[in-house]
Amino acid sequence: MNGVIAVDGPSASGKSTVSRRVAAELGWLYVDSGSFYRGVTWKLLREGVPADDSARILQVLRGLNMALFLHEGAVEFEIDGVRPGADLRAPAVRERVSPVSAIPEVRAFVTARLRETARFGPIVMEGRDIGSVVFPDALFKFYLDASAEERAKRRHGDLLARREQAEVGRVLESLQSRDRRDSTRATAPLKVAPGAQVIDSTALSVEEVVRRIVTAVRGVGGKG
Ligand code: C5P
Repeated sequence: MNGVIAVDGPSASGKSTVSRRVAAELGWLYVDSGSFYRGVTWKLLREGVPADDSARILQVLRGLNMALFLHEGAVEFEIDGVRPGADLRAPAVRERVSPVSAIPEVRAFVTARLRETARFGPIVMEGRDIGSVVFPDALFKFYLDASAEERAKRRHGDLLARREQAEVGRVLESLQSRDRRDSTRATAPLKVAPGAQVIDSTALSVEEVVRRIVTAVRGVGGKG
């Protein structure tokens, strides 16, 4: 069996929670591809590079060293010797990550790093283009979806749990604008990959979604 499970879908569709649990249950490694895009965005903000300065963006990218390592069942990275940690979730990164990840050179850079993660062992990777671009030959591809209102409710709960101020209407607007940008960009837009099984989790519990994925993977044993 080829050791990649691709889990794609829009923001707050439950990809992270589900992918982590699937990885733990199967004893596979978890990879959060969005954190790689957030990492590049974090570095650009740290270097003070303006959003529209493509020459400097490319310059930073050329000199950027993203080193991979294993941490608690996940493949993570450091950038030029620094682990960005919780800074990856900062509002400034969140607002800028979609435009940064629409830059073709950024995508090529991150896609190469993501493919490297497979050398650590079988992986469950969540993202937007994992089944379509990063690992088009993955035998297991899932696309998690949920209504925009349900996703905004979940994200709002996460923010409150982290003690961030949030209003559910604003969360919905921010999610929808990120979805729009992610789905309409020219390079590797968010879409259902050929062969992916779509799971609408609007009315499903996390356990139910995990069970469906694990059952599909175990049941098929490698034939897709
Ligand atoms: O999953 P997360 O919300 O952390 O992803 C942050 C952003 O990174 C997404 O909104 C999207 O713009 C970008 N991304 C991407 N391709 C991926 C994963 C994330 O373009 N495979």
